[in-house]
Amino acid sequence: MDKLSELSQRILDGKFSITEKFKYSMIIYPVSAVHLIYFIFFLLRKDSFMTFYNLASAIVYLLCTIPLHKEKYTHIYYVATVEIILNTIITTHMVGWDCGFYTFLFALTVAGYFISYRFTQHRLLTPMLGAGIGIIAYFCCYSYSRNHTALNAITDAATINGLYVFNCICTFVFISVFSILFMLEMRVSQNKLFEENQMLGKIAGNDALTGLFNRWSMKTELEKAIESGNPFCLIMCDIDDFKKINDTYGHNCGDEVLKHIAGLISSSISKGNYVCRWGGEEFLILLNGYSTQDAEKLADKIRRTILASDTRFEDQDIAHTITMGIAPHQKNQTIDSLISRADTKLYIGKRQGKNIVIV
Ligand code: GH3
Ligand code: MG
Ligand code: MG
Repeated sequence: MDKLSELSQRILDGKFSITEKFKYSMIIYPVSAVHLIYFIFFLLRKDSFMTFYNLASAIVYLLCTIPLHKEKYTHIYYVATVEIILNTIITTHMVGWDCGFYTFLFALTVAGYFISYRFTQHRLLTPMLGAGIGIIAYFCCYSYSRNHTALNAITDAATINGLYVFNCICTFVFISVFSILFMLEMRVSQNKLFEENQMLGKIAGNDALTGLFNRWSMKTELEKAIESGNPFCLIMCDIDDFKKINDTYGHNCGDEVLKHIAGLISSSISKGNYVCRWGGEEFLILLNGYSTQDAEKLADKIRRTILASDTRFEDQDIAHTITMGIAPHQKNQTIDSLISRADTKLYIGKRQGKNIVIV
């Protein structure tokens, strides 16, 4: 039981994946083992036909390891379907219905749906056909058994009961194993989808170069800030003479500067406040609950940090400065007019000689 829960945990953690090979191995080996048990059973009973039949079936299943290694899984599916139906017909005719060999048809139905959903075509039709033929075989064998006595019928009630119980247990185990595998595979798919959704959300909401929020995510935070009714400030930042950095050191260096400055800004603001890459070399900071004075103090600290911390690029230290415009949110002011106010302050700063904070 411990091993089983360890295995399921490994599957859920993605350390062990339920491959097609694994699933089909769960048919081939246990079913051939059951046939080998019956081979011994009928050998002891001196029923030569059933001994031969079970030996042949076990060999056929073991030979299925060839298509298993060649990854021709549909072949195994068809072999197992035909064999289980044939097994029902032969056992009903030879040893009698009451021994319960027909219960394997139920396992075939469940396993068929699970196994064929990875087929490239006829994913639903194939197991439906398998199950349909199985039901027809079930009723044909049942009505045949009501009107005919089996050729080599087992008459001893204890043996019949023993066989019936053994067959039911085998069927129950097969159905349980395939249901557990199906459940685990669903859980793994769900986990994968969740992770992919999170990744997609991150890609859609963040700037690819700096990893900061993009405009889209920032607009959501701005709407939240307005809805809260609490005071907040916006700081529009623009790197000074960035074009010159690009022209002098190249575009890659410009990218490094953007990443470096983005890192400096985001590490300067505390939780509950946000920074986004607003445009090319522009950043927008949202400071929730900040007064104009507090925002100005923080902005100047960031400006000084950026001035003091050069970007290292190919053994060169690239110096840079930033200009900032601060706009406190006024009652009933829209996001657009607040941003345009911060923009206006920023351009006042640019006109005043850059590397400055304007309130
Ligand atoms: P100012 O001080 O007035 O802001 O001047 P500036 O040179 O910073 O501004 P300008 O608008 O003239 O130039 C901005 C440059 O930023 C132009 C554009 O090629 C560059 N840029 C925009 N996005 C990126 C980017 O993702 N990577 C790099 N390396 N450069 C970028
Ligand atoms: Mg600029
Ligand atoms: Mg600009």
